[in-house]
Amino acid sequence: MSFFSTRGGACATTSQAILWGLAKDGGLFVPSMFPKIPLDRLALLEGKSYQEQAARVLRDYMEDYSIAEIEEAVNAAYSADAWDDPAIAPVRRLTEDSFVLELFHGPTLAFKDIALKLLPHTIRQAAQKNDEQREVSILVATSGDTGKAALEGFKDVPGTSCSVFYPYGGVSRVQELQMVTTGGDNTHVIGVKGNFDDAQTGVKKLFGSEAFHQKMNAQGKLPSSANSINFGRLAPQIVYYFTTYTDLVSRNLIRMGQEINFVVPTGNFGDILAGYYAKRMGLPIRRLICASNRNNVLTDFFETGTYYTHRTFFKTMSPSMDILVSSNLERLLYEYADRDPAVVKGWMQQLKECGSFSIGAQRLEEIRKTFWADYADDTMTAEEIRRVHERYSYVMDPHTAVASRALQNYRLKTGDRAPAVILATASPYKFSEDVLASLLGKEAVAGMDAFACAEKLQEISGVPIPKQVSQLGQLPIRHKTVCEVEGMEEALLGELK
Ligand SMILES: *Cc1c(COP(=O)(O)O)cnc(C)c1O
Repeated sequence: MSFFSTRGGACATTSQAILWGLAKDGGLFVPSMFPKIPLDRLALLEGKSYQEQAARVLRDYMEDYSIAEIEEAVNAAYSADAWDDPAIAPVRRLTEDSFVLELFHGPTLAFKDIALKLLPHTIRQAAQKNDEQREVSILVATSGDTGKAALEGFKDVPGTSCSVFYPYGGVSRVQELQMVTTGGDNTHVIGVKGNFDDAQTGVKKLFGSEAFHQKMNAQGKLPSSANSINFGRLAPQIVYYFTTYTDLVSRNLIRMGQEINFVVPTGNFGDILAGYYAKRMGLPIRRLICASNRNNVLTDFFETGTYYTHRTFFKTMSPSMDILVSSNLERLLYEYADRDPAVVKGWMQQLKECGSFSIGAQRLEEIRKTFWADYADDTMTAEEIRRVHERYSYVMDPHTAVASRALQNYRLKTGDRAPAVILATASPYKFSEDVLASLLGKEAVAGMDAFACAEKLQEISGVPIPKQVSQLGQLPIRHKTVCEVEGMEEALLGELK
């Protein structure tokens, strides 16, 4: 197995793709082929633990890792103490033919934990394989969620450190507390007096600065990134499509070989792309339903074949999907361009210069055999949270509700009643104000803070408040550094000393 760049310029081993993150020509690393897991092999996964299934699914992609290394990484990432459900990604039954895959039982209550708990281990191993003696120093700019997931993933992993920049005063109180109370000797959190774009631009500048690389090198550090275009973040997400399928089979809810649908709340297109990779590996998936919020650039793309980014950006109650340029789409385009990097490069060039590109009617028709897309604005999302709770006594977070709504529409418009799995990407307790307001009305929550809303939500749902939320108020603040936008490098170097 080797890795190609979607733009044609590079070839790498798996460990290099994970260590480098992005190809040098600006493209994304894609596997040279999709290893197959045919049904007879799939049947062997039935009844196995999440960790065992993960090791099996990842093995064929991670050719320059030994089986022992993969098992070590997987067992460390998915150890019982970090997850509040032994199944790691449990599947709940909502109706006869609808299921919810709960991906929020990790340390930060969102699905990014699944990948960010594993990545630090595969990065550390990749550094060893490539004779990288320096400490791998992860830099992250966050609008709230990714920062905490990265901190929890890299916390106390030997040979690594993790530094997060967040917009000071620009994240929710819960998000800020989650970050600044993080433990571990290798974690750093810096508030930037600016907005998220300032923080992100600042981090990008650091990556592009030769002087910064030299200073880091002098400290024995290699700067690296943990954002979602790293193949090391994508691969762990393929796993739960398999574990969901084998789980449904072993509970006799589907037959081995029966096609099912997955509905995915989508932002950067990483999660749903992992589902596409699972399908290419042979998992019986009929349709992947791409659910967006009001920032519905992907809905339009799957409708028209034109990706168009010159549009208004909306802030919604599903903020992790507030995104107009879905980076991982490039990997899908590469497949539908018959793996011709010149074609992908052309589209990316047009996107950069004109803010849009079109893939043509024939390719669109092909894509639509597998993908279907829909969106829900905040009003529809709130309605769906209420509807699902009234009917099934199940409380969804806003991201999950967007997907649930898309499934309703999909079934209405297509008549396809294949069993469907909704990916639940965050715990409702992460968004307790919006969830409670959806259930009871805005007036009912006026003046209540996130903790009061969580208490009330516990009463209504009967699901206990996760300790990550309830203990947040009592944890000591460990990170207090705040800097100006111009002072990010200095603040970081000071922290890392
Ligand atoms: C990141 C995130 C998403 C979007 O996932 P992508 O892989 O970026 O498409 C959806 N929901 C939640 C809660 C997230 O944190």
